[in-house]
Amino acid sequence: MKNDYRNTVYEVPKKNIIDEKKALEERIKREHPKVKIIYNQINKRDSEYNKQFRNIYNNKCAYCGITTDVISCELFEVDHFICESSFNEDFINAGKINNLVLSCKKCNRAKKDFIWSEAYSPRFNVDDESITELFYRDEEYYIRTEQKYITDNIICSFYRKLKLDEEIRRLDFLLMNMYGFYNKYSDDKNIEKILKCIMFLQKKRNEL
Ligand SMILES: [Zn+2]
Repeated sequence: MKNDYRNTVYEVPKKNIIDEKKALEERIKREHPKVKIIYNQINKRDSEYNKQFRNIYNNKCAYCGITTDVISCELFEVDHFICESSFNEDFINAGKINNLVLSCKKCNRAKKDFIWSEAYSPRFNVDDESITELFYRDEEYYIRTEQKYITDNIICSFYRKLKLDEEIRRLDFLLMNMYGFYNKYSDDKNIEKILKCIMFLQKKRNEL
Protein backbone atom coordinates (compact mmCIF):
# COMPACT_ATOMS: atom_id res chain seq x y z
CA MET A 1 0.00 0.00 0.00
CA LYS A 2 1.17 3.54 -0.79
CA ASN A 3 2.83 5.38 2.06
CA ASP A 4 0.47 8.20 3.04
CA TYR A 5 2.75 10.82 4.57
CA ARG A 6 -0.19 12.16 6.58
CA ASN A 7 -0.84 8.99 8.58
CA THR A 8 1.10 7.19 11.28
CA VAL A 9 1.07 3.41 11.46
CA TYR A 10 -1.53 3.71 14.22
CA GLU A 11 -4.11 5.32 11.99
CA VAL A 12 -6.57 3.68 9.68
CA PRO A 13 -6.76 5.77 6.49
CA LYS A 14 -10.19 7.07 5.55
CA LYS A 15 -11.36 5.65 2.24
CA ASN A 16 -14.72 7.22 1.61
CA ILE A 17 -14.23 10.94 2.12
CA ILE A 18 -15.68 11.88 -1.27
CA ASP A 19 -18.90 9.90 -0.79
CA GLU A 20 -19.37 11.12 2.78
CA LYS A 21 -18.93 14.72 1.68
CA LYS A 22 -21.49 14.25 -1.08
CA ALA A 23 -23.95 12.82 1.43
CA LEU A 24 -23.38 15.77 3.77
CA GLU A 25 -24.03 18.24 0.94
CA GLU A 26 -27.25 16.44 0.07
CA ARG A 27 -28.32 16.54 3.70
CA ILE A 28 -27.70 20.31 3.92
CA LYS A 29 -29.66 20.91 0.71
CA ARG A 30 -32.50 18.78 1.99
CA GLU A 31 -32.67 20.48 5.37
CA HIS A 32 -32.09 23.99 4.02
CA PRO A 33 -33.49 24.10 0.47
CA LYS A 34 -32.89 27.85 0.18
CA VAL A 35 -29.23 27.70 1.07
CA LYS A 36 -27.02 28.49 -1.90
CA ILE A 37 -23.52 28.56 -0.44
CA ILE A 38 -22.73 25.26 1.26
CA TYR A 39 -19.49 26.66 2.68
CA ASN A 40 -21.39 29.06 4.94
CA GLN A 41 -23.22 26.16 6.57
CA ILE A 42 -20.17 23.98 7.05
CA ASN A 43 -18.00 26.82 8.23
CA LYS A 44 -20.30 27.70 11.15
CA ARG A 45 -18.29 26.70 14.18
CA ASP A 46 -19.94 24.24 16.54
CA SER A 47 -22.74 23.55 14.07
CA GLU A 48 -23.76 19.96 13.45
CA TYR A 49 -22.58 20.26 9.84
CA ASN A 50 -19.18 21.55 10.89
CA LYS A 51 -18.84 18.66 13.32
CA GLN A 52 -19.83 16.14 10.68
CA PHE A 53 -17.39 17.66 8.20
CA ARG A 54 -14.56 17.37 10.72
CA ASN A 55 -15.50 13.76 11.41
CA ILE A 56 -15.42 12.93 7.70
CA TYR A 57 -11.76 13.96 7.83
CA ASN A 58 -11.14 12.11 11.10
CA ASN A 59 -10.28 15.52 12.62
CA LYS A 60 -7.08 15.58 10.58
CA CYS A 61 -5.61 18.23 8.34
CA ALA A 62 -6.01 17.04 4.77
CA TYR A 63 -2.67 18.59 3.77
CA CYS A 64 -0.22 17.77 6.55
CA GLY A 65 -2.17 15.15 8.53
CA ILE A 66 -1.93 16.80 11.94
CA THR A 67 -4.64 15.64 14.32
CA THR A 68 -6.58 17.03 17.26
CA ASP A 69 -4.27 15.00 19.51
CA VAL A 70 -1.52 17.51 18.81
CA ILE A 71 -3.35 20.79 18.22
CA SER A 72 -6.61 22.15 19.52
CA CYS A 73 -9.72 21.58 17.40
CA GLU A 74 -10.04 25.37 17.26
CA LEU A 75 -6.99 25.39 15.01
CA PHE A 76 -8.84 23.61 12.21
CA GLU A 77 -10.56 25.48 9.40
CA VAL A 78 -12.63 24.79 6.32
CA ASP A 79 -10.38 25.54 3.35
CA HIS A 80 -11.33 26.29 -0.25
CA PHE A 81 -9.17 23.74 -2.07
CA ILE A 82 -9.16 25.85 -5.23
CA CYS A 83 -8.93 29.31 -3.79
CA GLU A 84 -12.02 31.47 -3.80
CA SER A 85 -10.43 34.17 -5.95
CA SER A 86 -10.17 31.71 -8.86
CA PHE A 87 -13.96 31.59 -9.07
CA ASN A 88 -14.53 35.25 -10.05
CA GLU A 89 -17.02 35.92 -7.28
CA ASP A 90 -18.92 32.73 -8.03
CA PHE A 91 -19.27 31.94 -4.34
CA ILE A 92 -21.78 29.17 -4.98
CA ASN A 93 -19.35 27.06 -6.97
CA ALA A 94 -16.37 27.98 -4.80
CA GLY A 95 -18.35 26.88 -1.74
CA LYS A 96 -19.51 23.51 -3.08
CA ILE A 97 -18.50 20.70 -0.82
CA ASN A 98 -16.18 19.08 -3.35
CA ASN A 99 -14.07 22.24 -3.11
CA LEU A 100 -13.94 22.25 0.68
CA VAL A 101 -11.36 20.43 2.77
CA LEU A 102 -10.46 20.34 6.43
CA SER A 103 -7.16 22.09 7.01
CA CYS A 104 -5.12 23.11 10.00
CA LYS A 105 -4.69 26.82 10.40
CA LYS A 106 -0.98 26.61 9.57
CA CYS A 107 -1.55 24.93 6.19
CA ASN A 108 -4.57 27.08 5.39
CA ARG A 109 -2.70 30.34 6.10
CA ALA A 110 0.36 29.15 4.17
CA LYS A 111 -1.70 28.05 1.17
CA LYS A 112 -3.66 31.30 1.08
CA ASP A 113 -4.35 32.49 -2.50
CA PHE A 114 -2.00 29.93 -4.00
CA ILE A 115 -3.14 29.44 -7.56
CA TRP A 116 -2.07 26.51 -9.70
CA SER A 117 -2.97 25.62 -13.26
CA GLU A 118 -6.13 23.59 -13.49
CA ALA A 119 -4.34 20.49 -14.74
CA TYR A 120 -2.74 20.16 -11.30
CA SER A 121 -5.96 20.05 -9.30
CA PRO A 122 -6.40 16.28 -9.67
CA ARG A 123 -2.78 15.75 -8.63
CA PHE A 124 -3.15 17.81 -5.46
CA ASN A 125 -6.44 16.10 -4.61
CA VAL A 126 -6.34 15.34 -0.90
CA ASP A 127 -9.61 13.40 -0.78
CA ASP A 128 -8.72 10.54 -3.11
CA GLU A 129 -5.09 10.30 -1.91
CA SER A 130 -3.64 11.57 -5.20
CA ILE A 131 -1.48 13.94 -3.17
CA THR A 132 0.28 10.97 -1.60
CA GLU A 133 1.74 10.16 -5.01
CA LEU A 134 3.66 13.45 -4.88
CA PHE A 135 5.05 13.45 -1.35
CA TYR A 136 6.21 10.84 1.13
CA ARG A 137 7.44 10.66 4.72
CA ASP A 138 11.04 9.53 5.12
CA GLU A 139 12.51 7.58 8.03
CA GLU A 140 13.45 10.76 9.85
CA TYR A 141 9.87 11.98 9.57
CA TYR A 142 10.62 14.62 6.96
CA ILE A 143 7.97 15.11 4.32
CA ARG A 144 9.76 14.87 0.96
CA THR A 145 8.84 15.34 -2.68
CA GLU A 146 9.00 12.15 -4.74
CA GLN A 147 12.18 12.06 -6.83
CA LYS A 148 10.33 12.12 -10.15
CA TYR A 149 8.68 15.44 -9.26
CA ILE A 150 11.62 17.41 -7.95
CA THR A 151 11.95 19.24 -11.24
CA ASP A 152 8.25 20.03 -11.39
CA ASN A 153 7.97 23.71 -10.47
CA ILE A 154 4.32 23.66 -9.55
CA ILE A 155 4.57 20.61 -7.29
CA CYS A 156 7.68 22.07 -5.65
CA SER A 157 5.94 25.42 -5.17
CA PHE A 158 3.03 23.66 -3.50
CA TYR A 159 5.45 21.87 -1.18
CA ARG A 160 7.26 25.07 -0.22
CA LYS A 161 4.16 27.22 -0.06
CA LEU A 162 2.53 24.83 2.39
CA LYS A 163 5.75 24.68 4.39
CA LEU A 164 5.77 20.90 4.27
CA ASP A 165 9.56 21.06 4.67
CA GLU A 166 9.51 22.67 8.11
CA GLU A 167 11.01 20.92 11.13
CA ILE A 168 7.79 21.28 13.07
CA ARG A 169 6.17 18.82 10.65
CA ARG A 170 8.57 16.21 12.02
CA LEU A 171 7.91 17.07 15.62
CA ASP A 172 4.17 16.90 15.02
CA PHE A 173 4.52 13.52 13.35
CA LEU A 174 6.60 12.26 16.26
CA LEU A 175 3.89 13.41 18.65
CA MET A 176 1.20 11.78 16.54
CA ASN A 177 3.16 8.53 16.69
CA MET A 178 3.59 8.81 20.44
CA TYR A 179 -0.12 9.42 20.99
CA GLY A 180 -0.87 6.48 18.70
CA PHE A 181 1.50 4.27 20.66
CA TYR A 182 0.03 5.47 23.95
CA ASN A 183 -3.52 4.70 22.84
CA LYS A 184 -2.60 1.29 21.50
CA TYR A 185 -0.78 0.19 24.65
CA SER A 186 -2.81 2.10 27.21
CA ASP A 187 -3.14 -1.03 29.41
CA ASP A 188 0.59 -1.51 29.77
CA LYS A 189 1.91 -0.83 33.26
CA ASN A 190 4.76 1.33 31.93
CA ILE A 191 2.60 3.48 29.70
CA GLU A 192 2.53 6.38 32.17
CA LYS A 193 6.21 6.94 31.42
CA ILE A 194 5.35 7.46 27.76
CA LEU A 195 2.59 9.82 28.74
CA LYS A 196 5.06 11.89 30.73
CA CYS A 197 7.31 12.16 27.66
CA ILE A 198 4.34 13.10 25.51
CA MET A 199 3.28 15.82 27.92
CA PHE A 200 6.81 17.20 28.10
CA LEU A 201 7.20 17.26 24.33
CA GLN A 202 3.72 18.65 23.80
CA LYS A 203 4.43 21.50 26.20
CA LYS A 204 7.67 22.33 24.38
CA ARG A 205 5.85 22.18 21.06
CA ASN A 206 3.16 24.54 22.25
CA GLU A 207 5.83 27.05 23.25
CA LEU A 208 7.25 27.20 19.70
ZN1 LIG B 1 -1.96 21.07 8.09
